[in-house]
Amino acid sequence: MIDMLQDSYGRSINYLRLAVTDRCNLRCTYCMPKEGLDWLPRKELMTYNEMLRLCSFLVKLGIEKIRITGGEPFIRKDLFPFLKELSQIKGLKELTVTTNGVLTAPFVPKLKQIGIDSVNLSLDTLDNDRFIQIAHRDELDKVLNTLDMLLLHNMEVKINTVVMENMNIRDIIPLVHLTKTLPIGIRFIEQMPFNGGNRLNSLTWNYKRILEHIQQVFPSITKIPDAPHSTSFNYHIPGHKGDVGIIAAYSRLFCGSCNRIRITPLGVLKTCLYDNGKLNIKDALRKGVSDEEAGMLISDAILKKAKNGWEAEKKRDNQEPVHESMATIGG
Ligand code: SAM
Ligand code: SF4
Repeated sequence: MIDMLQDSYGRSINYLRLAVTDRCNLRCTYCMPKEGLDWLPRKELMTYNEMLRLCSFLVKLGIEKIRITGGEPFIRKDLFPFLKELSQIKGLKELTVTTNGVLTAPFVPKLKQIGIDSVNLSLDTLDNDRFIQIAHRDELDKVLNTLDMLLLHNMEVKINTVVMENMNIRDIIPLVHLTKTLPIGIRFIEQMPFNGGNRLNSLTWNYKRILEHIQQVFPSITKIPDAPHSTSFNYHIPGHKGDVGIIAAYSRLFCGSCNRIRITPLGVLKTCLYDNGKLNIKDALRKGVSDEEAGMLISDAILKKAKNGWEAEKKRDNQEPVHESMATIGG
């Protein structure tokens, strides 16, 4: 197969993050305002058929892994039948989901059945009051129930925790403690400015500070090799069943080996989390382009992929620092 999805720095793109909705049943403070967003009009969202068509030809062009995200993917009606159809795309090697876990538990056995055996679960605290403070909803029990179900079904589980000053610093160590008995990866993410409102002009908890904080309690924590294209620096604590990762998302230290593109719920292709996306592939499909033509448009856009997130941010049309909600991008 010709490597159609290669950027001008020689990076091959084989990973698609597809956001199926911007809507959400939580209001995480780092992601969106408490009152929510001006949700996108439903007719502007990509339909399942459009997404299936897009994914099928992207797999032909070299995409091997698809992550379904949002907003909260399980809030979109009929998500499961869509996932089932996606899982049947020939040549797709890995299908995964990122979820907040509120509605996910009942779907876990079915996910397993269709070959989804790895899920990323967002969980920023184990404390009920702080959960409400962060997510503005009282749903921690449901999220923890999803975690139990995932483990019961031997799913590979990665927990995503966004680290926030004055919010969940005291949760870092209890969350690391989970890895003692549970075979999970817990990944602490530097907070990024994608919150749909307030500017975040500096970072108080960067990857180094997060690591030092953990080292104070677990001095034996050891660096382990990172998988190719990993966005996290990974560590293990001797005697623990799970691992700890730290994602330098604000510091953008992993761009050099980037292998991913994103498609937003509107159908906008983002070749970098920090760019503002020039190609609306849904509009092109609705105008009647063929799969080949759509593939060419995507391939051309990938050729213009920025070298890294700093460069992408500088080149944004409006020259404004990023502040859109992560729910409109997919994380
Ligand atoms: N609703 C699902 C969830 O929360 O898992 C999927 C969508 S959410 C936008 C995807 C990931 O982005 C989550 O793990 C979330 O923690 C992360 N995220 C959202 N806003 C963020 C921010 N401002 N900085 C860092 N990570 C963020
Ligand atoms: Fe919703 Fe996920 Fe954003 Fe939280 S991070 S508000 S769960 S989309």
